[in-house]
Amino acid sequence: MALTITQDCVACGVCLPECPTSAISEGDVYVIDPAKCVECKGYYDSPKCAEVCPVDACVQA
Ligand code: SF4
Ligand code: SF4
Repeated sequence: MALTITQDCVACGVCLPECPTSAISEGDVYVIDPAKCVECKGYYDSPKCAEVCPVDACVQA
């Protein structure tokens, strides 16, 4: 299970340093590597990228 980033991403960069498993990569639209995303299980109560994204672009894949 992993989250994914939609085309709504405005490339603000806020999510990048928040990911505990370094699953997020920069781009015109940021990208989550599904092999690395653990949905923040063991780190936070809820997916951190979804919590911090200002445009709600981080969603369940
Ligand atoms: S849900 Fe957590 S582990 Fe997955 S990409 Fe977002 S911040 Fe990283
Ligand atoms: S926080 Fe949201 S808008 Fe900003 S880079 Fe991440 S996914 Fe894109």
